[in-house]
Amino acid sequence: MSNQSIGLSDRLYQYLIANSVREPEILTLLREETLQHPLVNMQVSPEQGQLMGLLVQLIGAKKCLEVGVFTGYSALVVALNLPDDGRLIACDVSDEFTSIARRYWHEAGVDRKISLHIAPALETLDRLLANGESDTFDFAFIDADKNNYAAYYDRCFQLVRQGGLILVDNVLWYGRVADAAMDGDPRTQAIKKINQQIYHDDRVQISLIPIGDGLTIARKK
Ligand code: CA
Repeated sequence: MSNQSIGLSDRLYQYLIANSVREPEILTLLREETLQHPLVNMQVSPEQGQLMGLLVQLIGAKKCLEVGVFTGYSALVVALNLPDDGRLIACDVSDEFTSIARRYWHEAGVDRKISLHIAPALETLDRLLANGESDTFDFAFIDADKNNYAAYYDRCFQLVRQGGLILVDNVLWYGRVADAAMDGDPRTQAIKKINQQIYHDDRVQISLIPIGDGLTIARKK
């Protein structure tokens, strides 16, 4: 498995990287450090990171949410593309993984924009809802435990404003969503279920992009 964009030959992928990815050095350093990590596939690919940064800029996002931080690559991309008064609320359960993230956020000078919540993400999202923060987020990225994707999508939909974006990662799940032999796997089932749910959710405008491991972009109407 690799986190390069699904379905491209290695040669074409290398071409895409060499001719389109403008990765700031701090992100390259973080990506290279994460390459040593046994769970490296949890890191978003540089071309996907660049798309996310572009989307943050396109919608003029100021208040963002991330469910699933890992070593912090996507959060760093988002934070680098936020204005000085922008803010990212980042949810994760691992102190260990996010200690790497915090080091790079600090080094990049964006740590003041990021507020990291170490707790089950649903608790953090429910607290934001209880605090009256519905319809206040511009952008949400869901990239955590797949079995909770439906619940994360439900909460993020409530928290994101009209015209805001919800991004859902790993929606092609290394091709397993289209492989009947993988149907017994609960995570494959969870992803197939959320894909169907979003497909039939007419409250959002959508596009599923085969970048990285498949990324759905949903815009709240
Ligand atoms: Ca992912």
